[in-house]
Amino acid sequence: MLVPTLLDHPVETLPGIGPTTGARLRERGYASIGDLLWLLPGGYDDQRTPMPIHRLKDGEYAVVEGVVRRARSYPRGGRMGFEARLERADGPPEDGGYSEVKLVWFRSIPGLGKRFAEGETVRVAGKVHDYRGTATIAHPESLPADAPGAIEARYPEIPGVRRKMLRRAVRAAVDRAVAEVPDLIPAPLRAELGVSTVGEALRAMHAPDPATFDLGLDTPSPAQRRLALEELVLWELSLRLRRASERGGVAQRFAIEPAVSTASAAFPFELTNAQKSAVAEVGQALESEEPMRRLLQGDVGCGKTAVAMVACAQVHAGGAQAVFLAPTELLADQHAETLKPTAEKLGLRLGVLTGALSKDQRRSMLDRLATGAVDLVVGTHALLSGDVRFANLGLVIVDEQHRFGVAQRLRLGNRGSTGRPHLLVMTATPIPRSLALVLYAGLELTSIEAKPPGRIPVTTKMLSRSKRDTVFRQVARALEAGGRAFVVCPAISASDELVGVDRTAVELKAQFGDERVGQIHGRLSGEERRELMRAFSDGELPVLVGTTVLEVGVDVPAANLMVIEQAERFGIAQLHQLRGRVGRAGQRSACLLTFAEPMSEEAEARLQALCETDDGFVLAERDLELRGPGHLFGYRQSGASGLQFASLAQDQSLLERAGDLADRIIQSDPDLSAPEHASARAAVERWERNAAVREDAG
Ligand code: ADP
Ligand code: MG
Repeated sequence: MLVPTLLDHPVETLPGIGPTTGARLRERGYASIGDLLWLLPGGYDDQRTPMPIHRLKDGEYAVVEGVVRRARSYPRGGRMGFEARLERADGPPEDGGYSEVKLVWFRSIPGLGKRFAEGETVRVAGKVHDYRGTATIAHPESLPADAPGAIEARYPEIPGVRRKMLRRAVRAAVDRAVAEVPDLIPAPLRAELGVSTVGEALRAMHAPDPATFDLGLDTPSPAQRRLALEELVLWELSLRLRRASERGGVAQRFAIEPAVSTASAAFPFELTNAQKSAVAEVGQALESEEPMRRLLQGDVGCGKTAVAMVACAQVHAGGAQAVFLAPTELLADQHAETLKPTAEKLGLRLGVLTGALSKDQRRSMLDRLATGAVDLVVGTHALLSGDVRFANLGLVIVDEQHRFGVAQRLRLGNRGSTGRPHLLVMTATPIPRSLALVLYAGLELTSIEAKPPGRIPVTTKMLSRSKRDTVFRQVARALEAGGRAFVVCPAISASDELVGVDRTAVELKAQFGDERVGQIHGRLSGEERRELMRAFSDGELPVLVGTTVLEVGVDVPAANLMVIEQAERFGIAQLHQLRGRVGRAGQRSACLLTFAEPMSEEAEARLQALCETDDGFVLAERDLELRGPGHLFGYRQSGASGLQFASLAQDQSLLERAGDLADRIIQSDPDLSAPEHASARAAVERWERNAAVREDAG
């Protein structure tokens, strides 16, 4: 147990933070002074050099200096407002631009009249708006005209908390408590590596030194790198500790032949060479008594399922059961559907266990698992609940779809098996090898590097949201070719911000007829979704509007068009996964990425990347460059504890360094029980708790 410190003091003890503001901060996960220190600025306002008035730009933050002209109070909606105009001290410029800037306060503050008296030279800061040809700053911040300007941190917006108040509170938190922030990396190691404390880095983030600060740099600052290193060390430490807790034990051994040859020949197609070598690698691992811990990765459509199926057959031949875990019910059902013919051919008795089962059905399935009457069970998280027992579990397959944590938390080992089950985790889309090695340290890696022959890349185009006619035309064309069209929306119900399944369906029904457009999303029951998928697959309902429940694995061979609305809202891996839903029978197919303007540069780069390549490995590298490993793994910045190192992804050396550091710490103290590792231990525990929360929420 760590001794409570100033870091644990509630945010309400900071100046200006009362119960109301405190509650708002808490809602966002900032409950203590220590939490608030991790509310990192998204950018900075440089108040060092005033901007000449004629060079002010609409929409940009600026510090302005000038002489007050025409200041006045005026009544406004029952209150008094105040406005003043600032002119350049040295008269109007020759080269155009604004000649003055108007400052407005919709609600006057005592002392304004005096401070902004005509003829005074003043300095103010704020965001400039062009209001009917006049440069205007509303409620500018007043700065001392003679002092050197500061670098002000710009914090992410917290609803209901004023900027200035937040800035003041964070500044006070830094002054009071930053020195107490614990380091994961013990002092001797820090000294050896020449890295600062986390506290020093945090101070530099919140209150940069105006003498050395450089806004123009787009490489991360030393402080950012230091914090990133800290996060990565934490990640690496927790990874190693978990591995250690999972290591050991003995698994059942399963002979490769004849099961693998028989199973490999049971598909309606011949396995590709890439699949064959994956089958061989997995097969060998299953033959060993060391429990397999393996990541099977490959691009969308490369045929991971078949490889998994062969592994199931190998285990079955040795008298054990296999579990196939899918992220959604829809996908579990679909996997069961696809696996069925091969399973039957090979004599594997297949079962399905999802939340959709009735109580009786569930009880009966549990019985069959416990007595060994089912050889392969496909299911969702329902398979992880405590009452599931197996006669003899030999293999767990996780169709992972970015949810690595699920595999980590699997505790199926003691559910009835002659030893530890082997584990095979399949990724939805590839991960750059370099990253996989670092982030999945301890898992063996098998990659399927090529797709089955004869696949034509999906033609992918970006399209403005305003071009609805083009969308309709494409849908019509897809249907004429005997195909099916998916339309994916970011939300079920439309809002000001988001395109919804509801309205999009109405729009498409008006074009294609009520009876030809279906809607699918997470609020429907499993039964309803199954029925919709069947109707879609059979062509009764050739247009299906839905949310990302369509993302994972859905396999409808006739599907030849994927429209993704507001594609800028999705990540690369997700978009690639969605696009992988069409053209699966080798036919010509298309993907339309509609976007709403304005779009961030990063979003545009993402969509561009998808248009340029169909290669999941290339896209994974691109994603890593653009957004960083945190995003790749679906970890959003969450509250005070999520990963924030996004922009540091390119920095492979930092990742490696973190790995080395974690190794050295663990080697010297395998369970982090030494006093100098107390903060590391506490951080890892907190991290694990938060990670579990994030996974459950995600
Ligand atoms: P993913 O790796 O994305 O999970 P799947 O296992 O779902 O891919 O396979 C994608 C599609 O390719 C399926 O329709 C499957 O039947 C088909 N497929 C798999 N392997 C081969 C192969 N060797 N030759 C032809 N088609 C194959
Ligand atoms: Mg799959």
